Amino acid sequence: ARKFFVGGNFKMNGTIQGIKDIVHRLNDAKLDGTTEVVIAPPALYLLLTREHLNPEIEVAAQNVFDKANGAFTGEISASQLKDSNITWALTGHSERRTVLCEKDEFVARKTKAALDEGLGVILCIGETLQERESNETINVVTRQLNAVAENTKDWSKIVIAYEPVWAIGTGKVASTEQAQEVHASIREWLGKTISSEAAENTRIIYGGSVTDQNCRDLAKQADIDGFLVGGASLKPAFIDIINAKL
Ligand code: 13P
Repeated sequence: ARKFFVGGNFKMNGTIQGIKDIVHRLNDAKLDGTTEVVIAPPALYLLLTREHLNPEIEVAAQNVFDKANGAFTGEISASQLKDSNITWALTGHSERRTVLCEKDEFVARKTKAALDEGLGVILCIGETLQERESNETINVVTRQLNAVAENTKDWSKIVIAYEPVWAIGTGKVASTEQAQEVHASIREWLGKTISSEAAENTRIIYGGSVTDQNCRDLAKQADIDGFLVGGASLKPAFIDIINAKL
């Protein structure tokens, strides 16, 4: 059985004190021991988070560069993350794809660089509202996944986060049917493109306006193996989302 996985993406939010408060809240909470929990604070606070957080909870960078070191102003490498005990990285978040103009192929190179260093990767994919309305959803997520499959055969350290762009930060969560349908297609893609093992074992998590109110119904779907939580990961409700299966 796939281990339920809940990620918290803080995005560009928080202060030293605010992040410490979130970390202490997580440390003090009673969390479902069968759920894997990973939080992704802004890069500036990664070390502080790792220092204060209970070791059972892992820490992710929100981004990673595809080169090991060198003259790349403002970037952070996978080896630097590993050196700092940051064991996960997000790649392909829609905000990076749209605001920072990251292309599928660049996302694939970053994903490979992180995996090559032994990091876990939360690979984010998802369609815009316009793409959904023109029935392009499966084409878009398949295109985004194919780019990564081009250079990565071993998907055992990848968690796929399906995040429909129209559901991110909008309060407009995908319905359980909408999410389950895309998750099932992604699993089918894994079986056809990677392996039947990858289809069986890869966690496919949902992101986009997940709250403590809607998480339980989503978690009951056969192909939803957890969540990537934005706004609610900064709040006490995050604990209830982690415990959605209890
Ligand atoms: P919200 O939960 O704030 O909609 O954000 C989802 C997200 O983008 C997580 O990566």
